[in-house]
Formats: sequence, C-alpha cells, structure tokens
Amino acid sequence: MDIEIVRQKRKTLSLVITRDGRVEARAPYNLKVEQILAFAEEKKDWIEKKLSEVQARLRPEKRYVEGEIFEILGASYELCFYDGDKIGISDKKLYFPVSYREECKQRLGGWYKVKAKTVLKKFLDEESKRLGLSYGKFRVSTAKTRWGSCSGKNDICLNYRLLSAPEYVIRAVCSHELCHVAHKNHGKDYKRMLNNLSPYDKIADVWLKFHSIDSLGEG
Ligand SMILES: [Zn+2]
Repeated sequence: MDIEIVRQKRKTLSLVITRDGRVEARAPYNLKVEQILAFAEEKKDWIEKKLSEVQARLRPEKRYVEGEIFEILGASYELCFYDGDKIGISDKKLYFPVSYREECKQRLGGWYKVKAKTVLKKFLDEESKRLGLSYGKFRVSTAKTRWGSCSGKNDICLNYRLLSAPEYVIRAVCSHELCHVAHKNHGKDYKRMLNNLSPYDKIADVWLKFHSIDSLGEG
C-alpha cells in the first residue's frame, strides 16, 4: 500500500482517501514516520475498503462502442460490429451484429450469462473434484453484491460477471464456496481448510476487490 505523508500544521493524524484513489496521511510536523505507518497498518481494512470503492467509481462505464475493450477469462477483446447475426469471439475481437447495435448492452449481457453458465460450471466441477467436496445444484446469479454463495443445502451460486475474470480468480471463488460445503462460516476451521486446499485465494482477492462493482452493465 502506498501512503503519501502530508505534513500539516495540525494536532492529530488523519487518513484520507483522495478522489483519484490515493491514500494520504495528514500528519502533524512532529509525528514520527513509524507512528504514522503503524497507524495506517491498524486501519488497513478500512483503507482497503475505501480504496476499492473509489477505484470502482473511477472505472468508466461501458459505452458499447466500436473498439471498446471487454474481458473474457482475463483476456481483452475489442468490440467489433460486423455484418453478421451471431455474437462471437475470435482473434482478440468480440464480434457483435451491427443490426442489433441498439440492443448491444442487453444482448451482450445475455451472451455473457449463457457463456458463464457452461464455463463457470466447468471450473466448479474441476475444483469440486480436486478438493473432494461435492455440491448440490449450480446456478448463475446476476447479483450486484456477491461473487458467489453456498446455501444450507450446498447449492452453489456464481455471479456471471466472473466470466470476465482470469481463470485463477474463478477457481479461487469456486474453492471459497466449495469449502463452505464443509464449513458454513469463515471461522478458523474454514480458513485452515481453504489455506490448505486453495493456492489462489490471496492474489485473487485483489482482482475481486478491484472489480467490486458491475463492469458489464446490467443486462
Ligand atoms: Zn464465504
């Protein structure tokens, strides 16, 4: 975490997340750097939460215009309107029928959802086999607030927006939910199990935090 220390004529230390997503520690002239950093360390969770909120706001909304970048499994595809009738990807391009241009947002959202169903299920099944944890039913969700969930009946729900994530992120979410088959909370036993079984979780967290708000648009 980068923290900028700004010395000011003031009595107390204050942490500020700026509009452009920087962390500023506004500190009195006589306060030691170690003390400032220790304070920031204590507030780490708060800082990360605020930072991801700001970063999510900074990400521009999709405009569905020619050349705009869409992500699928962590790879970038350029939106390309063409004279055909199917949505498809090929050679770093996401082809979309020019005749449906006005409905691009809805139709592309629908396409992501259909694709997500098969792709996410495949990863979930692979992780389930690898971890030796089997689940109930599988469903794709369109929730705006959660990446995944595991119900009391061990039904697993994964957000279709995960389709834009790199494979290791999807696998991390799958293993997170699958471990809930064994433990329904995030307690010690759950964490121990996840740490033992899943090598992906910590780095995947960064991606998930950064993409915390809908980057596709609600379709
Ligand atoms: Zn959980």
